[in-house]
Amino acid sequence: MIEIGRGSVNKMSARLDATRVEYAFRLGDAQIPVNPLIGKTVRLEYLGAIHCSHCGRRTKTSFSQGYCYPCMQKLAQCDVCIMSPEKCHHEHGTCRDPSWGEQFCMTDHVVYLANSSGVKVGITRATQLPTRWLDQGASQALPIVRVATRQQSGFVEDLFRSQVADRTNWRALLKGDAPSVDLTAIRQQLFESCAEGLSALQARFGLQAIQLLNDVAPIEIKYPVEAYPTKIVSFNLDKDPIAEGTLLGIKGQYLIFDTGVINIRKYTAYQLAVHQ
Ligand SMILES: [Zn+2]
Repeated sequence: MIEIGRGSVNKMSARLDATRVEYAFRLGDAQIPVNPLIGKTVRLEYLGAIHCSHCGRRTKTSFSQGYCYPCMQKLAQCDVCIMSPEKCHHEHGTCRDPSWGEQFCMTDHVVYLANSSGVKVGITRATQLPTRWLDQGASQALPIVRVATRQQSGFVEDLFRSQVADRTNWRALLKGDAPSVDLTAIRQQLFESCAEGLSALQARFGLQAIQLLNDVAPIEIKYPVEAYPTKIVSFNLDKDPIAEGTLLGIKGQYLIFDTGVINIRKYTAYQLAVHQ
């Protein structure tokens, strides 16, 4: 086998080409297309070092997907409000980094429905679409509410979460294509059943801030997967530094080998070599 790249790994870049996803490994500054590797034997090798995505310091363990412990405790992007946006504390003057918050949280967000392993509700910065959906392996997606801040997206998601899941079942995701669902109909059901809560949020933040997207059509996304495994085994590079097999496909941030699956995002900031 020959080495085709090495460096600090980041989540794969994912680009929608018509309806099909094109992936590339990101190793340091280099990008290596992954789609052409499908059907071939590929080996990922963890080289034994993790360097924090923020400060570059070597860390034994990766925290919050790619950070050293001090950065995890200090950075705004590692705060609890990133996972639970309704807990945003920017207005109290306690944001870990108010200017980061201005740039990444006090900006338009979208609440969406996606079908990855069944219907789920999610949120993302408006500029992250459709990347967010591709990273999650969604086969259908539909933006349903546009809001002015990350915190507001959390409040809206909270309303919908009582009726739609907010997690992806990654095992189901890797076992096959999710059956198609009518996201438009689910949107209308949610708007009706959550009408009171939505009106309350509009009264609190303004009609301009909380906009229901009634006229958007869902998009369909196809992943480059030649075959799905019948039994799902995960590689764990912390226990065994080599993941190798015939690459069957790519979905979300997962590589699907005939020998097991691996979530590349989980290994952000690991030093990896890729062989073909
Ligand atoms: Zn650090």
